[in-house]
Amino acid sequence: MHRLLWLGIIGLCLTRLCVAQEPSVAPGMPAAAHTVVLRARALIDGTSAQSKPNQEILINGDRISAVYAAGTRPRPPGAEILDLGTATVLPGLIDCHTHIFLQGEVPAAGGYDVQLLKFPASYRVARAVVAARRALEQGFTTIRDVETEGAGYGDVGIKQAINEGYIPGPRMFVATRSISTTGGYPLEGYAPEIVVPKGAQLIDGPVEARKAAREQLDNGADWIKVYMTHRSWVDEQGALVSQPTLTVEELKAVVDEAHGWRRKVACHAYNGIGLQRALDGGCDSIEHGLELTDAQIAQMVKQGTWLVPTLAVYYHDPDPPDTPGGIRDRKRVAVHGVSFQKALRAGVKIAFGTDVGGFPWSEPIAQEFPRMTEFGMTPMQAIQAATSRGAELLGRRGELGVVAPGAYADLIAVDGDPLADVGVLQHVSFVMKDGKVFQRTEQSVQH
Ligand SMILES: [Zn+2]
Repeated sequence: MHRLLWLGIIGLCLTRLCVAQEPSVAPGMPAAAHTVVLRARALIDGTSAQSKPNQEILINGDRISAVYAAGTRPRPPGAEILDLGTATVLPGLIDCHTHIFLQGEVPAAGGYDVQLLKFPASYRVARAVVAARRALEQGFTTIRDVETEGAGYGDVGIKQAINEGYIPGPRMFVATRSISTTGGYPLEGYAPEIVVPKGAQLIDGPVEARKAAREQLDNGADWIKVYMTHRSWVDEQGALVSQPTLTVEELKAVVDEAHGWRRKVACHAYNGIGLQRALDGGCDSIEHGLELTDAQIAQMVKQGTWLVPTLAVYYHDPDPPDTPGGIRDRKRVAVHGVSFQKALRAGVKIAFGTDVGGFPWSEPIAQEFPRMTEFGMTPMQAIQAATSRGAELLGRRGELGVVAPGAYADLIAVDGDPLADVGVLQHVSFVMKDGKVFQRTEQSVQH
């Protein structure tokens, strides 16, 4: 065969390879001039107290440009019409507490430790890619992923690959490695002579605390995650006790550094001394907050501290009853709902978060919604916690978690009325992110 023809064929193959590796949309380039009118029989817009019947959402490229009653404006020339039939349309959901690098902690599957000790890094990345896709296909178009559990800065790379269009996934706000103290995070329980990896960056003293925060911010952390409590147990009086980790001075060094970068600090805190230090040190969001005193709730309201409760995860895999772990696990659940109710009544800002990854990614993320309503939220409050309130926590009010002009065209649809049954949010039939349809199942195709 002629040498030039060979070169041509090789050239063609290279071109095809290149095409296969190209992102579906060039970085930073919205679908240019693509206009879509999305018809919604019912619209929950993320901020209004009621749903609105028969709305049309005009989308230009990756943003929403108008929302209006159906039929009140002429069809824009060249616009694609997407009629979602009887489905209810909502803003893309936001989970403010995920771990894409964690694959459940099911004891029978090796629990937590096996993921750091036996999973190759490439395997952890592969499963994180699947987890990111799982979030998107369940309608979670934005996540705050609060640490990689020993997988270093892996979340920064996953976020980049999503943003460049190489893999599907939600908009990610990443926390990278997280920070705790010596004795403040697994892996633990091994012989002292054996060096094992840790699931967090361990620091001692304000200097090391600030240095860890600087390293993480320098390497791409959007948020800093700090563990302010670690082990927990039930004492002789039947009270839940949590071991505190960072001192107020150590936390203040982290918070001061993060705030200087205009970034925020999420604090894992169950109760007691550690939770109090989290508030006194200036944490922006309390994660879990299993047991909040009235004084702590008042301090959260005064300081504007967010609560990301993650109710559902504590119902997973409790230790057997009548063991110290089992007694602790049941105590956690018993106090958590009460704290949530008190915080809700007092007006603490609450954002939706699940700790998914702490339970397997094969389970529905939306299982948190019925827990929130069980403990006193209305369905609309729970939905807003996962939309406009989540966006507010992330500093993206008006851009995310809302169906309004100027917001990103991140939209989902569910069959049925989530205000009558929040359970329907487990069955998302349509997902659009950045104005592009990611998923559209049979039920949502009704012309
Ligand atoms: Zn977590």
